[in-house]
Amino acid sequence: MKPSLNIVPFVSVDNMMRLVLQIGPEQVMRDIAGYIEADFRRWENFDKTPRVASHSEVGVIELMPTSDGEMYGFKYVNGHPSNTKAGLQTVTAFGLLAEVETGYPVLLTEMTILTALRTAAMSALAAKHLAPKGAKTMAMIGNGAQSEFQALAFKAICGITHVRLYDIDPEATAKCARNLAGSGLTLTSCTSSEQAMEGAEIVTTCTADKQYATILTDNMVGSGIHINAVGGDCPGKTELHRDILLRSQIFVEYPPQTRIEGEIQQLAPDHPVTEFWQVITGQVPGRTDARQITLFDSVGFAIEDFSALRYVHDQLKAHPYSEPLDMIADPDDPRDLYGMLLRAKAKG
Ligand code: NAD
Repeated sequence: MKPSLNIVPFVSVDNMMRLVLQIGPEQVMRDIAGYIEADFRRWENFDKTPRVASHSEVGVIELMPTSDGEMYGFKYVNGHPSNTKAGLQTVTAFGLLAEVETGYPVLLTEMTILTALRTAAMSALAAKHLAPKGAKTMAMIGNGAQSEFQALAFKAICGITHVRLYDIDPEATAKCARNLAGSGLTLTSCTSSEQAMEGAEIVTTCTADKQYATILTDNMVGSGIHINAVGGDCPGKTELHRDILLRSQIFVEYPPQTRIEGEIQQLAPDHPVTEFWQVITGQVPGRTDARQITLFDSVGFAIEDFSALRYVHDQLKAHPYSEPLDMIADPDDPRDLYGMLLRAKAKG
């Protein structure tokens, strides 16, 4: 008998929120970090390609595909820093998981919330290996849509207890502080990035601006700090002064993509970087001494989305927060697609 693969589970924004609230955002990010870690351990099994980007004056639209030979996943994502002025989000996304054997999709899901969760999980996973031991304080520069997820992931995965917030827009900082009140984090709202950096052992930069910005200058970065640079993720869109990069041990996701999109687009194409998956597998060390400046030059890579899609797909077994989507045509005779149309016409 023909397997019924034509109905695809769809996770709407509402259902994603239900799922995340049921499990708890911090637990979800711990879990996704575990899925990413497991997939990075088998890095060599994956098809890898820099994401396919379509740039415009105001932003970028990207497709991020990968496969491990059994499952195939992709994410559609945009980045439009000026969107917030029109009441729209900078980043929105949706994605799909399919089985390779038939090519049939097994999941279609919103990924705007899921991207925030996976990005924060990835950042905290990197920091677990790269940040100074026992780090408790993080500066969080850029207090937009991603920021609370970042703060909570660093609490859940790295044991951060204190977050120092700064945004050029004080309303964003106030929103972030309000949303994190009651999270168990001690919060300090700051009026400059210099102030936010005071006493911080980790700094996360998560701003959105379509230019070579200088969120951190060289003099703001003391020895021993870990930098989690999230916002620089497109050609011509960076956050760190080049001199900081020259003093840092740089860790990246997938070099062919990061060299185009990350902070290291400011460096020579052969500047040495470490692939973070090799830290996960133990092939190369993470942080090696207390005075080292470590930089995770995050741009977001397809395997992280694949891990997040796998996680959601697995969760649906216990938490059925999806709706059936009639997405794949299913003629009785697979070669009689036109006949299916004729029969529908006859039924009226
Ligand atoms: P957002 O627009 O919601 O928030 C960005 C915030 O940065 C805003 O509050 C803005 O006021 C602030 N900002 C802009 N310039 C600043 C400056 N000079 N100093 C301090 N604050 C400044 O965007 P978001 O969804 O939070 O995304 C933040 C960034 O992260 C974007 O650039 C996005 O492309 C990037 N991102 C990266 C990944 C990844 O995997 N690396 C994933 C998702 C988003």
